Amino acid sequence: MTRFIFITGGVVSSLGKGLSAAALAALLQARGYKARIRKLDPYINVDPGTMSPYQHGEVYVTDDGAETDLDLGHYERFTGVSARQSDNVTTGRIYSDVIAKERRGEYLGATIQVIPHITDAIKAFVLSDIDDEDFIICEIGGTVGDIEGLPFLEALRQLGNELGRERSMYIHLTLIPYVAAAGELKTKPTQHSVRELRNIGIQADLLLCRADRDIPASERRKMALFCNVREENVISAIDVKSIYEVPISYHEQGLDEAVCRHFGLDVEPEPDLSGWREVVQRALAPEGEVSIAIVGKYVGLQDAYKSLSEALAHGGIANNVKVNVKWLEAEAFENGGTIEALEDVDGVLVPGGFGERGAEGKIKAVTFARERNVPYFGICFGMQMAVLESARNLADIKGAGSTEFGPCEEEVVGLMTEWVQDGIVEKRDESSDKGGTMRLGAYACVLGDNSRIKSIYGATHISERHRHRYEVNMKYEAPLAKTGMIFSGKSPDGVLPEIVEIPDHPWFIGVQFHPELKSRPFEPHPLFTDFIRAAVEQSRLV
Ligand code: GLN
Repeated sequence: MTRFIFITGGVVSSLGKGLSAAALAALLQARGYKARIRKLDPYINVDPGTMSPYQHGEVYVTDDGAETDLDLGHYERFTGVSARQSDNVTTGRIYSDVIAKERRGEYLGATIQVIPHITDAIKAFVLSDIDDEDFIICEIGGTVGDIEGLPFLEALRQLGNELGRERSMYIHLTLIPYVAAAGELKTKPTQHSVRELRNIGIQADLLLCRADRDIPASERRKMALFCNVREENVISAIDVKSIYEVPISYHEQGLDEAVCRHFGLDVEPEPDLSGWREVVQRALAPEGEVSIAIVGKYVGLQDAYKSLSEALAHGGIANNVKVNVKWLEAEAFENGGTIEALEDVDGVLVPGGFGERGAEGKIKAVTFARERNVPYFGICFGMQMAVLESARNLADIKGAGSTEFGPCEEEVVGLMTEWVQDGIVEKRDESSDKGGTMRLGAYACVLGDNSRIKSIYGATHISERHRHRYEVNMKYEAPLAKTGMIFSGKSPDGVLPEIVEIPDHPWFIGVQFHPELKSRPFEPHPLFTDFIRAAVEQSRLV
């Protein structure tokens, strides 16, 4: 029997609903249950693919090619369960599906309305594509009270009624602010937010209360009374040092036990959290440290590189070191800007990115890492910039550029117009839609014999997730090989270069895919583990 847990947020945004959902799923897994998490996003975009990282943070890509909310990254990292297309939906997607159905005449003359047509579509989504999961945890984006969230809350109200209490539960994540002038934690905003939910017809079953300090029993009692929630279901969610402590902290506060009691499930035996404890121990008590420069374009908002910073942390955990990230704005290296900021780092990483701004600065960072023998890791755009750098500075292809920035003499990086996915030929041209049309999701890649990448993966065939429109042109393989840069990974048909490396450099690798999306605390990605290992070696040299 699949049970449904709906998580709403109150008072303010950014309380970490995604992390809370992920931590709860991890606790249920530790109790032997199968859990899957989904996210309902009330904004109107069909998916976050066309949104600026500054608006929305990173776009997380699934194996099956969905461009999704970054919370799905937390879900995967905490549960080890790969997310799917059916794990994230937006208002835009729901409406476009309903409207398409209406255009096909499938509603047989009905007037299409929010209730029941939109709410039915939301309910159908929540109930779709379920295998034998014991729990589906459904997180609703935004904060209770947002206008665009209303159809989602209404759909979940109906669903709770249809499923019954034994199969559904509402968790409300809220903030208990500390007001310094009064020297007190305040529960009033939570009371209002729970009342707002009740106006919609949803009675919260459990309050997960974010606070920066212990919530006294008297305050928890007060919330239980005013919010009509059982006292043992008012759970403190106190700030912790590492996100990987969250499951342990929630368990200690009784979250998983309260959820089990709600559904009439056994609370004994205790879940085994030893794996989590070990990850936390390694994350909080490293034996050394390294410094990695991330030279990017959206460095002002670290959520734009969420999976990347997590993957670096996992690489640190694997090597027992703390990874200090130095966030550098690529544009600062342009127009005579100096590269001094890179002098003291143990590794340089140029991450994924779009558009021309900062590209020349990134190329300068590549030159620095290549000439100074500092470990270099180029991801997607960072690989493309590494290839341009070698083409211009070593292979003497002066006009080497990317058509992403407009016409250029030598199209070393060009628009992909045709590729094969699962035996089907995908075609694109300059006029294709921007949304959902990149080369997205998992693709196979064959690794070259005697390459560093092959020894890092310990395999010849790998699968990694992609999100790009441009690609290095195969015709530059030979001239680049003469300069010492090899194409050490290709698509199985040999048409698309997926990995470049410079064998004579201590560690210089560029990958066209996004390995950070598949790194997990219990399974750090081999590329990040090896990059950090190389950075540790580098740190011993300086
Ligand atoms: N803008 C580049 C492309 O579309 C790189 C994309 C990325 O880094 N994800 O190919």
